[in-house]
Amino acid sequence: MTSENFSTVGEQVGEFYDQLVGAFDASLYGPNIHVGFWDGHEDTTGLEDAADRLTDMMIERLRVGSGDRVLDIGCGVGGPAIRLAEATGAEVVGVSVSRKQVEKANELAAAAGVGDKAVFQHGDAMRLPFEDASFDAVWMLESVMQMPDRSAALAEAARVLRPGGRLALTDNYERDRISEERRPVIESILKRYLTQSPASFEAYPAMLREAGLRCTEILDVSESTTRQSVRRLGEALAKNMTELAAKIDPEVFAKLKPAEGENLEMPELGYLITTALRTGPTEA
Ligand code: SAH
Repeated sequence: MTSENFSTVGEQVGEFYDQLVGAFDASLYGPNIHVGFWDGHEDTTGLEDAADRLTDMMIERLRVGSGDRVLDIGCGVGGPAIRLAEATGAEVVGVSVSRKQVEKANELAAAAGVGDKAVFQHGDAMRLPFEDASFDAVWMLESVMQMPDRSAALAEAARVLRPGGRLALTDNYERDRISEERRPVIESILKRYLTQSPASFEAYPAMLREAGLRCTEILDVSESTTRQSVRRLGEALAKNMTELAAKIDPEVFAKLKPAEGENLEMPELGYLITTALRTGPTEA
């Protein structure tokens, strides 16, 4: 794919989230656009708290503090970046291809009293508007799967990271082989949410290495995240459908709504967490 195609994908994703930004006032995940984390089926934690719990697990992994500068690539409406700034005192810059998300995120940061610590701007992950080695840490929470080329997006993240700096991300991966029969079903669901094909868990460390990053941890958290989230979100959505529909353009809502009787659970897809360190010029 050429860089021109990259920006077309970015623009489409930006428009998609621009149309959805109103819905976040009614969002069941609070200011988060990522799955929650539950300790098994008996854990009754609500969607928003479970989503915050996943953010907290990523905050722990990033190991930043006051004086550090963090880049949040694919920042959504800013919930995770604001939480990171509050918890650690680090300075966070968030980028999204959706201008409306950026606006909303800056509003939420100001309302939380961290408008000086968490700052959001429009930017495309495939061509970040930052100098080489200008961040101490980078995270990508549930965003890399919407980018047109994972390897290129990771290389771009590595470029802006200082040597020794840490990257933490979450992503989808193909956990069970997708059968020929199921492939079109899964592809049509992913396409509706502008999500690219899932990654391979086994290939992730090598993909990071080629991007200039040394993988220090990779965890399959599917059982605690996606396996739980889709079902719980479905139940909550069924209750809140009218409120949610009122916040979104009806045409957009019709496009996004699952088809009658469609099952959004995709057991073939897993969810992973990984952390990596930017390798220095002498370390390959
Ligand atoms: N990280 C946030 C949002 C996840 S939703 C959270 O956890 O709450 C995915 C986000 O990635 C959206 O904000 C979307 O605009 C952003 N995104 C997707 N492709 C992008 C790209 N090419 N460049 C920048 N942001 C992108």
